[in-house]
Amino acid sequence: MKYVYIDTMGCQMNKSDTERMLGMLSHFGYEETHEPEKADLLMVNTCSIRQLSEDKAFSAVGTWGKWKKEENKNIKIGFCGCVAQQKAEQIFKRAPYVDFVLGTHKIYALPEIIERINRGERVCECTETNKTEDDVSDKYEIQRVKGVNAWIPITEGCNNFCTYCIVPYTRGRERSRLPEIIIKEAKDALNAGFKEITLLGQNVDSYGKDFKDRNYRLADLLRELNAIEGKFRIRFVTSYPTDITDELIKTVVELDKVCEYFHIPMQSGSSQVLKAMNRRYDRETYAKIVKKVRDMVPDVTITSDFIAGFPGETEEQFEETLSAIDEFALDYSNLASYSPREKTVAAKWVDKFIPENIKDERFQRLNKKIQENCLKSNLKYVGREMEVLVESFYEHKGQMINSGKTRNFKTVHIPYDKDLTGKFINVKITDAKTWYLKGEIVP
Ligand code: SF4
Repeated sequence: MKYVYIDTMGCQMNKSDTERMLGMLSHFGYEETHEPEKADLLMVNTCSIRQLSEDKAFSAVGTWGKWKKEENKNIKIGFCGCVAQQKAEQIFKRAPYVDFVLGTHKIYALPEIIERINRGERVCECTETNKTEDDVSDKYEIQRVKGVNAWIPITEGCNNFCTYCIVPYTRGRERSRLPEIIIKEAKDALNAGFKEITLLGQNVDSYGKDFKDRNYRLADLLRELNAIEGKFRIRFVTSYPTDITDELIKTVVELDKVCEYFHIPMQSGSSQVLKAMNRRYDRETYAKIVKKVRDMVPDVTITSDFIAGFPGETEEQFEETLSAIDEFALDYSNLASYSPREKTVAAKWVDKFIPENIKDERFQRLNKKIQENCLKSNLKYVGREMEVLVESFYEHKGQMINSGKTRNFKTVHIPYDKDLTGKFINVKITDAKTWYLKGEIVP
């Protein structure tokens, strides 16, 4: 038996790639380990969204390189994911102990790479071809992380080129996966006991735009998935605001398994900053989209993403972001300080960079606003009865709890009596905290 350890950084797309790679590696007799010291093959699946994550990846392989030099020269080291895609051969210069570099476009080549490194070759595979993992999907099973929720990528890449974002350079142009393959993966996951399917993509609601041979969009895929028998839930993330169609919203309302949850990144509340970000909407357009979703989908949760301190952002423009969170009653938002990424347009606007102390201060103010709104949103549900899908159990503030999600993506803590992971239960909400609700099982 050989062991593989994969350190997965960044977004859910990377986690999904790791599950695919583990499936391929199991055919070579590799079993996953969570102890790097035990591994024969060590891989890092990198994220290039922030510098910090990139630095962490090089630090991890640096440690492994030391082990290889001082303790076990047979260890193999792989550098994968978005940083690999971006830097390719350059990785070898910075980390000479790395045996292979594998970009996001070439995951399907992993089995061949393993054979080559075992023959003593050093391999870099990053060039984009017409082939994808789907072309080899009948040969390998996905090795999903155990749990309740199965993540299924439905699109890869992005065509939008927001001026701050590295994704179009690391993940390539937008490509939709075939519905037949997605539906098969969903059925396999449900047969394996998963209770929730989350469809994943950088712009999930532009799914199907690139199909030449069929007129088939996200709403069609949701309908086919909803028709699969059994009790389970369906979600999709991330939505680009202007790609949300009326038909999609109506479909969410109409289909019983599709949950009342939209993640719609706004990024800034200022129309001028949005223009500088090359987002294809202004504040007013975003407001109309959010209103429409709220009007049509009862109890919907709408979450968002924001960037604090985008180059050139004035105090007034930043305040427009604070006011947007209130005005659109956003239930929760992810927050990041602007971090320049090589190759992107905004990274060249050095003279407009916001000093770190101001970025930090804006980050803190935005964070406070997000927390206030999150609590406000949670308080609406006290006294209500809601269906919860239990995801796990653990100790929280000295008490054991079962923790799960409502259909509209609220986390609920329920006093632990026995492990209810994977069960749908009805819960009466008794209290609301900033990040979660408390509830009791309705007998
Ligand atoms: S829409 Fe913009 S932020 Fe999102 S992945 Fe594409 S380029 Fe990046």
